[in-house]
Amino acid sequence: MRGRFAPTPSGRMHLGNVFAALIAWLSARAEGGSIVLRIEDLDPRAQHHGVADALMRDLEWLGLTWDGGPHWQSERAEIYQEAISRLDKAGLLYPCFCTRADLRAASAPHASDGALVYPGTCRGLSAEEVARRSAARPPSLRLRVPAEDDPAGTVEFRDLAYGPHREVLARDCGDFLVRRSDGVVAYQLAVVVDDALMGVTQVVRGHDLLPSCARQTYLARLLGWEPPEYGHVPLLVAPDGRRLAKRDRDLDIGALRERGVPAEKIIGSLACAVGLADPGCEARPDEFVGSFSWDKIGAHREDIVVDEVFLDRLVR
Ligand code: GLU
Repeated sequence: MRGRFAPTPSGRMHLGNVFAALIAWLSARAEGGSIVLRIEDLDPRAQHHGVADALMRDLEWLGLTWDGGPHWQSERAEIYQEAISRLDKAGLLYPCFCTRADLRAASAPHASDGALVYPGTCRGLSAEEVARRSAARPPSLRLRVPAEDDPAGTVEFRDLAYGPHREVLARDCGDFLVRRSDGVVAYQLAVVVDDALMGVTQVVRGHDLLPSCARQTYLARLLGWEPPEYGHVPLLVAPDGRRLAKRDRDLDIGALRERGVPAEKIIGSLACAVGLADPGCEARPDEFVGSFSWDKIGAHREDIVVDEVFLDRLVR
């Protein structure tokens, strides 16, 4: 059993990131499993010098230890390229020239989460057309998913907290990106390759990534790997329902540490939000290993509101 932390170093962790890391850590430790740390620094635009180091120091400070890594996605381009070549040789990829604006204009938003479903615009381009258009602008690469009525394109799995989940790829996302037009490998592909090659058997992360599981499961199987099991956790939201983000600086770990909030209070408040601790509890993560269960997370699936009461407890 191996879990992972997979932070993107675009800023200090916020409470939602810490919460997902805490549950990933508890879930692995409760089964005597290990944790691998992977820094998801794929996107050169999103990198901030020193952020990854601060991130690692924050995890250590919180008591969220890891056993393998850090692995850096920015150093793994050749490994991703190998997977892309395999998919390409199998005839599963095609170049796509659509811009963001094209996609917005032509794609139907998916009803449940508003994400765009790719309509297949570039699916049938001739070799001449591809050559002509490539001269003007480099294409991205998309993976062809099975037709809606082909059972091969239906992905089903059971999430540890959210239960059974089913997606029909053609209907719910359409052909999806494995490489962007700037040459950067797509998140979906990198995550699948990394989780498989790093021996990750359980993926725990925020609920916002639940819709990615079908694509990741499908890709893993295409590449000949057993997909990991998935456990998604509720998001932390502001009182107006807005999801906490890295731009909520006052709630990031850097700011909380500067205000003198002890790590034990942060961990205790987050554990309390899913019934693992009583209000006001201050503790290290290992104190919850014995009482952790996915049933408890499953019983607290609604978003966690970071309201005055929550903050008061934290900074008081
Ligand atoms: N790197 C992503 C993030 O920090 C998480 C990706 C994943 O868990 O699959 O939000």
